[in-house]
Amino acid sequence: MTVTLLGAAEIRALAAELDVTPTKKWGQNFVVDANTVRKIVHLARVADADRVVEIGPGLGSLTLAILETGATVTAVEIDRRLAQRLPQTAADHGVREGALDVIPEDALRVTELPAQPEVLVANLPYNVSVPVLLHFLETFPHLQRGVVMVQAEVGERLAAPPGSKTYGAPSAKAAWWGSWRLAGTVSRQVFWPVPNVDSVLVAFERHEQPLAGEDERRRTFAIVDAAFQQRRKMLRQALATLMGGSAAQASAVLEAAGVAPTARGEELSIDQFLGIARAADR
Ligand code: SAM
Repeated sequence: MTVTLLGAAEIRALAAELDVTPTKKWGQNFVVDANTVRKIVHLARVADADRVVEIGPGLGSLTLAILETGATVTAVEIDRRLAQRLPQTAADHGVREGALDVIPEDALRVTELPAQPEVLVANLPYNVSVPVLLHFLETFPHLQRGVVMVQAEVGERLAAPPGSKTYGAPSAKAAWWGSWRLAGTVSRQVFWPVPNVDSVLVAFERHEQPLAGEDERRRTFAIVDAAFQQRRKMLRQALATLMGGSAAQASAVLEAAGVAPTARGEELSIDQFLGIARAADR
């Protein structure tokens, strides 16, 4: 039996059946367009036998497009009404038993998954997209690649190179785990209800080798946070506060890392932040 996708009318009918009024709190804008969900799955190169984790499956439109390829899905959904209904929707649409696992939880609290997924696919609400992505990349080392649909500003930040206007702590931290690129824009009209923000698709690939171990990552992220909390100040001031030292000591650390003492966080790559963390530890 082949898997069939959800149509726009069916999505509305499902919501009515569940008495679900899409809530802003959880960013519930459901995709009602088959081309969009298939495009996401294609960009993520999901293929038969892949193990995929989907965050926020909602009523299941993207979930069914993933399952259509023959991949298996672990879906993490915070809204229990939606999580409970999803297995039935999948069965009604020709999904074989065992291909879908649903975890009714806040994705930020998930620390174990039944399978070790290598692909992440998600249409994420604005307020949780960056924390959820960083949490999953940190917690699930088997994740190799993924495609996420996020608000345009978030997508631009994730993919921003050092020195660009939108480069910030999320960009530097995301670059720790992998490379990110904007992979397309999405019309507001593909959602129900129609959101008042623009969305983009962002694709990532995890680095083949981690930049460093967990201990160095934590110390690097602390420097990234300090640097961007005091965005207008020079990095040496933020670093001095973080180290509990003087500006001169901070300048010496920057010099040892090959970074100008007048540098600002927004100019530095994640490798340079790591270099500073290492120099501070010497
Ligand atoms: N994937 C569906 C689609 O494309 O139609 C729904 C996308 S909707 C933008 C976001 C979904 O994420 C909602 O179903 C919402 O309930 C869920 N969600 C929001 N915050 C979440 C969290 N912290 N953990 C898990 N799911 C969450």
